[in-house]
Amino acid sequence: MLKDQAIVVHAAKDLRSETRDLVPLVAGEVRLEMAWGGICGSDLHFYRHGGTGVAKLRQPMVLGHELSGRVCETGQDIRGFAVGDAVVVHPARVCGQCHGCLSGREQLCEDVRFLGSAARMPHCDGGFRRFLTVEATQLRRVPEGLPLDIAALTEPLAVALHAIARAGDVAGRAVLVMGAGPIGALLVAALRLKGAARIVAADISDFPLALARRVGADETWNMTRTAPEDMFDIVFEATGVADGLSAAMQRARRGGVVAKVGIFAPGLVPAPLSLVVGREIDFKGCWRFGSEFDEALEMLAEHSAQFGNLVTHRFSVDDYRCAFETASDRTRAMKVLLDLAVANKGLEVRADTSSSRWGEKPTWRLLPCGACPAGNFRLTLTFGPS
Ligand SMILES: [Zn+2]
Ligand SMILES: [Zn+2]
Repeated sequence: MLKDQAIVVHAAKDLRSETRDLVPLVAGEVRLEMAWGGICGSDLHFYRHGGTGVAKLRQPMVLGHELSGRVCETGQDIRGFAVGDAVVVHPARVCGQCHGCLSGREQLCEDVRFLGSAARMPHCDGGFRRFLTVEATQLRRVPEGLPLDIAALTEPLAVALHAIARAGDVAGRAVLVMGAGPIGALLVAALRLKGAARIVAADISDFPLALARRVGADETWNMTRTAPEDMFDIVFEATGVADGLSAAMQRARRGGVVAKVGIFAPGLVPAPLSLVVGREIDFKGCWRFGSEFDEALEMLAEHSAQFGNLVTHRFSVDDYRCAFETASDRTRAMKVLLDLAVANKGLEVRADTSSSRWGEKPTWRLLPCGACPAGNFRLTLTFGPS
C-alpha cells in the first residue's frame, strides 16, 4: 500500500518528514505525484520563526505552495486531465461568492484555502510531499518543453507579475527594485521582458545582486556601499524589512508609484506619508495574484533558460534540512528547489566496485555534508592505488 511522505513543520526549527495514509479521492479531485517544490520566504518564516506575518503556527502543517507534479489518479467527473499529465498547482482555492471573488480579484477572497498556510484553522497543508490531492480547477497543464523544475517557479513569478500589474504600465519607465531576493529577482526579469527602460536592483548583499544583473538589471546598488540619489517612476519594495518602505518612498519621483510586495510584521510601520501627499505618490499593496498565474506559466515556457538562472540549488527531499538551511542563507542561495520525486527511497547505491579495472582500490567515505549545520552525511567513492 502506497503511503504519503510529507515535510511537516511543528514549531520553529522543528521540521519533520512524516508518513501519512492516502485518503480516497472525492468527485472533482485529482491526486498528483509531486515533482518539484520551491522553498518560499513564507516557508522559511515558518521554519525559522514558527509563523509568517499574522499567521502563527497553531498545529503541525505540511509546508510548500510552489509546486509541480504529474497526475497519478483522477476522481469522478474529471475532464481535461489524465494520468501522467505534467501540471503546476495554483495554491489558492477560492470561494467564488465573496466580494473579492465577485469583483474579479480572487486574491482578496475572504474564504480562501491556500496551500501551506496557517491563516485558518485547521491549517491548510501544503505540497512538500510525495502525493498531493487538489481540486482539478487548481491545475494548469505544463506547456510542452518547459521542464518541471522551472515550472515550479510559476507561483512566485505570478506574485511578481501581479505586483507589476498593480504598479501600472512599466514600459519605458525607470524602475527601482528594492530587495533582490527571489521575488525581487523575478520582478527584475519580468520587468525586462515587459519593456521597462531602466531597471535598478538594490540589496545589501552582493550575491543576489549578481543574479539580478544576470536576469536583466541595468544597474545594481549594494546599499551598504552606495546609495545614489536617483529618483524613479516606480519603486517595488520587496526587502521584507520594516524601514524599506520609508526608503522606497524617498526614491519615488513626483507622480510616481510605490508597490509593496510581501508581508509586513503585524503592527504599525513607519513611513513618510507627507511624501505620499506632496508628491502624489500612489501606494499599492500587492497581495498574492489572480489571473497572473496563467501569464506566469506562459512567460516561463517562453523564457525558461533565463528564469532557470535563478535556481541556485536542488536538493533531494530527503535532505530537507540542508535545503531549508541553505535557502536561509541569502549570501549564496536564490531559489532552492526540493526534488519531491525521490522521497522515501532512502540511500540507493548502484556501483559494482568488487573488481576495479585499473587495479585501484575503491574507498567509501562517509563525510559531513558541510553545507549546513543539520549534521547530514554524504557517501563518497574514490579510487586510489591498491
Ligand atoms: Zn511563495
Ligand atoms: Zn471568495
